Amino acid sequence: MPGGHEEVEAAADALERQLDAVEGDPTCALCQADADFFLYEPHRVAKFVCWEHVSPLSAAVDVPISESNRPVALPVSEEFR
Ligand SMILES: [Zn+2]
Repeated sequence: MPGGHEEVEAAADALERQLDAVEGDPTCALCQADADFFLYEPHRVAKFVCWEHVSPLSAAVDVPISESNRPVALPVSEEFR
């Protein structure tokens, strides 16, 4: 896997912790639909989003996002199956 592998592993760890904290299925931070992805950036972004809101540009990210500064998006559904 080219580059960013550690980021993905950190995101996977964070996703596990978030799933433990959520009761039932996680929902999108913006529209309350079932979450399809988990957006993660260390110390900055950790939230569930649906496929419509997975883009960092449309997601409820509290900080400015640039090309070199994007949260990792992990698909959530694989974690459940
Ligand atoms: Zn949504």
